[in-house]
Amino acid sequence: MATAPRIKPSERIFNFGAGPATMPVEVLEKAKGELVNWHEAGMSVMEMSHRGKEFVAIAAEAEADLRKLAAIPASHKVLFLQGGATMQFSAVPMNLLRGGKRADFVNTGEWSKKAIAEAGKYCEARVVASSEDRNFTYVPKQSTWKRSPDAAYLHICSNETIGGVEYHWTPDTGEVPLVADMSSHILSRPLDVARYGLIYAGAQKNIGPAGLVVVIVREDLIGHALPDTPNVLDYRLQSDADSMLNTPPTFSLYLAGLTFKWLLERGGLAGIEQVNIRKAALLYGYLDSQDFYSNPVAKEDRSRMNVPFTLRDASLDAAFLAEAEARGLSQLKGHRSVGGMRASIYNAMPLEGVEALVAFMEEFRKKRG
Ligand SMILES: *Cc1c(COP(=O)(O)O)cnc(C)c1O
Repeated sequence: MATAPRIKPSERIFNFGAGPATMPVEVLEKAKGELVNWHEAGMSVMEMSHRGKEFVAIAAEAEADLRKLAAIPASHKVLFLQGGATMQFSAVPMNLLRGGKRADFVNTGEWSKKAIAEAGKYCEARVVASSEDRNFTYVPKQSTWKRSPDAAYLHICSNETIGGVEYHWTPDTGEVPLVADMSSHILSRPLDVARYGLIYAGAQKNIGPAGLVVVIVREDLIGHALPDTPNVLDYRLQSDADSMLNTPPTFSLYLAGLTFKWLLERGGLAGIEQVNIRKAALLYGYLDSQDFYSNPVAKEDRSRMNVPFTLRDASLDAAFLAEAEARGLSQLKGHRSVGGMRASIYNAMPLEGVEALVAFMEEFRKKRG
């Protein structure tokens, strides 16, 4: 390689991976300081009983901080569960059909498709709008949705992690509960929780380590699970047990709690949104300023969190990735289903990371373009 690596092995890279993803270094340092002996407990959080007063306090504080951050109203329960967002693809229909036979789905890409396929095991999962006609590069306008009169709920994936397509608006579904998979953009901007029947998000994008999924659900929707629902997936049972029907992912939940505090110290969701707007504007602005790289997504639907892009000449992909890696710009390879590159620029990615990426891209373009 022509250019020597510019990072030392002891330095942290800029990790653009889609998930598990970069976490705030301040959170990692804090956890490091508390790792062996948490708050004089004489043990680490990993070793604590989930029923002990220390961990019960950690879990309660995490919930209180998340409620404060996202302004979650009293009408909604917060559950910290296992099984990732993928488990919610089944848990949602199991709990929310409430005797209904049908649920509506908007199909905006790979994660929508997975949610639809799984729900199809429990009900008629009807696709009421799809952006497949243009290779999932936009969000279909609500005026084009052909909704069912008797849907138990309507499901969207509000940020498609692979395609880089984000809803910058909240659908109005009237009396029908709106359900959103927010795995890859939750807590990246303020949201109006009251407009959703249910929100779920795997932790490993914007919250913390894998192993945890956050479910925020309107209380009147729970308590009607299908009879075959496993106890750990039954929102009523988990809610009654404060998400501790069985052992929760304790260490992941502790780190999520530290991340919530990190966000509160940065002005909460309105504060982090400003940073996210700047990062996205910098990267998309650059992508649109030349024709060596391009992003296919409709401008108004571009994700602030996941930015896919391609090189005009795909034969340069391998060189691009190798040279980026040597600069400490890591995990830029696009998802296998779309190819090219993808930069995930979650909350924990500092502006400097995006600046370093854009500087590298421009250098590479000048050299190879
Ligand atoms: C990552 C992701 C998932 C899957 O998460 P798992 O924790 O691996 O189950 C689902 N939906 C979206 C939008 C995602 O980004």
